[in-house]
Amino acid sequence: MRLTIKELFELPPDGRSVIVKGWIRTKRETKSAVFLEVNDGSRMGNIQCVFDEAAAASSAAEIARAGTGASVRVEGSLVASPASGQKVEVKALSFEVIGEAPADGYPLQKKAHSMEFLREIAHLRPRTNTFGAVARVRNRMAFAVHQFFQDRGFNYVHTPIITTSDAEGAGEMFQVTTLDLDRIAKSGEPVDYSKDFFGKAASLTVSGQLNVETYCQALSRVYTFGPTFRAENSNTTRHLSEFWMIEPEVAFNDIADNMDLAEDFLKSLARVALSDCAEDLTFFDQRIQNGLLDMLAKMIAAPFARMTYTEAVKELEKTPEAFEFKPYWGCDLQSEHEKFLTEKIVGGPLIVTDYPKEIKSFYMKLNADGKTVRAMDVLVPRFGEIIGGSEREERLDVLEERIEALGLKKETYSWYLDLRRFGTTPHSGFGLGFERLMLYVTGMANIRDVIPFPRAPKLADF
Ligand code: ATP
Ligand code: MN
Repeated sequence: MRLTIKELFELPPDGRSVIVKGWIRTKRETKSAVFLEVNDGSRMGNIQCVFDEAAAASSAAEIARAGTGASVRVEGSLVASPASGQKVEVKALSFEVIGEAPADGYPLQKKAHSMEFLREIAHLRPRTNTFGAVARVRNRMAFAVHQFFQDRGFNYVHTPIITTSDAEGAGEMFQVTTLDLDRIAKSGEPVDYSKDFFGKAASLTVSGQLNVETYCQALSRVYTFGPTFRAENSNTTRHLSEFWMIEPEVAFNDIADNMDLAEDFLKSLARVALSDCAEDLTFFDQRIQNGLLDMLAKMIAAPFARMTYTEAVKELEKTPEAFEFKPYWGCDLQSEHEKFLTEKIVGGPLIVTDYPKEIKSFYMKLNADGKTVRAMDVLVPRFGEIIGGSEREERLDVLEERIEALGLKKETYSWYLDLRRFGTTPHSGFGLGFERLMLYVTGMANIRDVIPFPRAPKLADF
């Protein structure tokens, strides 16, 4: 039976016969032996398959075809490896190339490639150490998200992807339509959305929050984890047009409970990454971001710093010369401000609360001062916001006033307002961008490199 390389490394080197199938990373030929490094993605490390003189001679024709990238089948016995850093290797007996990868066409030859180049071959980049590791960590983190919530009695709710209401009350949504835009443009007629597929204008969701709140008001502890879409023209290393978001929502939680949940959640995910993805994280620590392992261990050990927006702005105003964008009370915190606060002021994650209502969404609970809302953003070094959340406004009259003040249509939110009309409760939740989490635990620099096929302005290949 074929075992994965990960499974083989868990076996004793007792000479048992094994079959390895995978892709060649490197081939090295000496006078007396041939060494093939084979990888199947089950773990970072390759398994070394060694052909002694006799085995090399009997498989000579196949070995000649076995260049980097070729898929192969090796049969042999599992023995102790004299090489350092690996317990076992395969003493090869027979060998077969399943699919060749001609060296003159295969782009992933044994040398360092830039991230930019690898982005252009997104269909082949999972075969590199870096992107294999990203894929394994991403898989483990997705599972850990569910484990965290399932262990705590949360129900996973599937919120819709197509929506006719805008969660943020702002634009920047991708339209979904079956109207014949060419024909309408040529005819000069106005667009009539009543003739569109859903009988009105529809878009891809920017957040599952409003929908998940409805289930929160029945099941108490809920979360969504799904794709979200933003048509903002943000060409940055931390924005995607399509990303995955985790949004828990808890009835009867106030903003302090919400902060505790967010902190526990991030720490729990980091703990899983360190324990279950140790090999991959060690690679990231050595090759991508020095100090990553220490940073994660420190983050787990210490409580997150917390300060209000007003306090944060006071800190920033002490050194206005440090910023391109001068901080003042009322400004939206820029990424440079978030980096400064986390890197220079607290040296770790920071939860900022109570932002001015003007720069936050309508559904956030208004504080007694009438000026700030119970928002809470979790900021981290390197890229700033990783989580955005709040206690929600549960008072019908206040929520209606906010909707009107912002010029939003009350009718659009009638079902949302019903949650306040019937059995309203204090409740809180947040959104964690899954790819921002991936940046955090892998140390990767660009968000386009922690999702298999990134979507961004002018980028939707593959
Ligand atoms: P930012 O200020 O960084 O653009 P935001 O305030 O617009 O983020 P929210 O609307 O609060 O973000 O969304 C919740 C979370 O979703 C964010 O904290 C972040 O982790 C993630 N997120 C938001 N926009 C993006 C994006 N374009 N690409 C990837 N993740 C995102
Ligand atoms: Mn936010």
